[in-house]
Amino acid sequence: MTARSRLTVLAGPTAVGKGTVAAYVREHHPEVWLSVSVTTRRPRPGEVDGVHYHFVDDATFDVMAARGDLLEWAVVHGRAKYGTPRAPVEEILDAGRPALLEIDLQGARQVRRTMPEALFVFLSPPGWDELVRRLVGRGTEDEEERAARLETARVELAAAEEFDVTVVNDDVRRAAEELVSWMGTPVPAPKRD
Ligand code: 5GP
Repeated sequence: MTARSRLTVLAGPTAVGKGTVAAYVREHHPEVWLSVSVTTRRPRPGEVDGVHYHFVDDATFDVMAARGDLLEWAVVHGRAKYGTPRAPVEEILDAGRPALLEIDLQGARQVRRTMPEALFVFLSPPGWDELVRRLVGRGTEDEEERAARLETARVELAAAEEFDVTVVNDDVRRAAEELVSWMGTPVPAPKRD
């Protein structure tokens, strides 16, 4: 029988580059399975339904959440709902394959409650100035959206201490490789009295 693998959860402040690090892992580490979230937000240009996200309407999302089909879910930046479909994650873990969730902090906290044995990795920016530069430089959000994201980021940065490991995103390739190397670490032995 194959041993169940350990789930890895990657979270961190807004615009720290979680998506870019996850995309690097998707491209260079085919052995790692990446969860595809459901979201109520509209697709951005170039995003493919079923690949980057499952794009659903609000009613569909609410049914999934109510049925318990989501391992975790959250409203991110006060705008759209995002959630992790539970069944595919369970299947992959049972098959013994390394699995990665790239989610926001609220979602990571939910997973910590339901799957405390998972590995929680905090992706940190090299510094606050760099985070602001990335956020403004991306230019995909309007002024109000940017302000909301910055405020979220300020609170989120303080959360690093809740995580098992912090990986600094000073370079995408380096950070992604460090993340993948952490994914191979064994599950800690259960505490004994
Ligand atoms: P974006 O809209 O830029 O793709 O993602 C916005 C935020 O939603 C990111 O911080 C991303 O980590 C988070 N996110 C994506 N999928 C999920 C999910 O399934 N659950 C939660 N809680 N957050 C998610």
